[in-house]
Amino acid sequence: MLNPVNIGLLGLGTVGGGTVNVLHRNADEITRRAGRGIQVTHAAARRLDQARTCPVDGIELTTDPFAVVNNKDIAIVVELMGGEEPARELVLTAIANGKHVVTANKALIAKHGNEIFAAAQEKGVIVAFEAAVAGGIPVIKAVREGLAGNRIEWVAGIINGTSNFILTEMRDKGRAFADVLTEAQRLGYAEADPTFDVEGIDAAHKLTILASIAFGIPLQFDKVYTEGISRITPEDVSYAAHFGYRIKHLGIARRAADGVELRVHPTLIPHRRLIANVDGVKNAVLVMGDAVGPTLYYGAGAGAEPTASAVVADLVDVVRVLTSDPENRVPHLAFQPAALVNLPILPVSEVETAYYLRIQAADRPGVLADITRILADQEISIEALLQMEPGPDQASVPIIMLTHRVRESRMDNAIARIEGLASIVGEVTRIRLESLSGD
Ligand code: NAP
Repeated sequence: MLNPVNIGLLGLGTVGGGTVNVLHRNADEITRRAGRGIQVTHAAARRLDQARTCPVDGIELTTDPFAVVNNKDIAIVVELMGGEEPARELVLTAIANGKHVVTANKALIAKHGNEIFAAAQEKGVIVAFEAAVAGGIPVIKAVREGLAGNRIEWVAGIINGTSNFILTEMRDKGRAFADVLTEAQRLGYAEADPTFDVEGIDAAHKLTILASIAFGIPLQFDKVYTEGISRITPEDVSYAAHFGYRIKHLGIARRAADGVELRVHPTLIPHRRLIANVDGVKNAVLVMGDAVGPTLYYGAGAGAEPTASAVVADLVDVVRVLTSDPENRVPHLAFQPAALVNLPILPVSEVETAYYLRIQAADRPGVLADITRILADQEISIEALLQMEPGPDQASVPIIMLTHRVRESRMDNAIARIEGLASIVGEVTRIRLESLSGD
């Protein structure tokens, strides 16, 4: 195996800390994918005495970010400090030094990307920026690679979690904008200065980048029409609902007959659209390709580890290219061929899920007690229960139950015993239930 690749981090805050933690925790999986290790050897922050959210042993810390971008042992610089300067100058210096760059900085890419990509092109290095748009959602990769066969017609995204959280609360609880904003600040969803989020500037940065990769146009942040959500009232939200619409803060880039529309503003959308149901701090981007039709990408648009997920994916991409002889290209099955492992595939009896049960039982006292005792013996707990009244000539009634998660073999035992009760009619219907609460 080749030596690990050395990484220099600029910034060790929310995303920097998340990136170190993900690289540590998933080191084996990441190495199996990349074909070699990825290790953070240097990191710059303003204050060295700051409490960190990640282990820093083995990382040389400095307050001088230029020492990192000028260090000849570092192959990839990861810029996670934010802002335009000195981030721009640091990234250009790293490029001039022949280093690849990964960044999560949307303001930097939207406003200075043309200059940065031209410099990178000249030097033959990569600047990767998946984390700059919609945090952990790999939408850049999807548009740039997965949809490469399409003519992209339009892109519409909920790409600022703070604004979406505020609009969701206004709708669900009928609260006013200012009131929800204060709460969002208390919960840490909104910055002390919320202007970038609620006035649409952050969304405009991201839309600039999306439009560029969708249509093959230069980055043009200053041409984006930008309107925030601060003038939306609870009345607007409820009138919209009355007509079957939800108000979402969208970034929209659309090919028109004679140009491209670039706009960020509150938008009514029919409530039955999937994207209208993206609530809270979540992000989603809808991309319309001429061949594929509409495709939707959904997930966490911010946060330490979701954003780190995109940063680390970019690192893996760059490392694969660094060692890009035929054996080290993107592996066909995502992992390196020699690193495939034979994990056992579990029989269904070992699967754990929750269940919906429908049991047809004689309408007699004590039946329910018998059933619940059997479930308790198997340590199956009941989440919800519904017992129907029998109709005039019915001797049996359905009992409907939702259970908590349990291993299937226990449910097999319980059902066998329930079906053995004299008071049970026919077979018990079982349907597995997954909350999919990660969605
Ligand atoms: P953060 O928590 O404020 O961390 C910034 C880090 O950079 C801190 O470690 C800070 O040092 C360091 N830093 C800032 N200026 C510096 C300078 N001049 N010299 C040396 N170090 C400097 O920020 P973040 O939330 O991680 O965001 C980082 C980037 O990721 C931004 O571009 C942001 O837009 C982007 N992003 C963030 C998220 C998210 O969920 N947070 C999501 C997507 C993209 P100290 O530690 O001493 O303060």
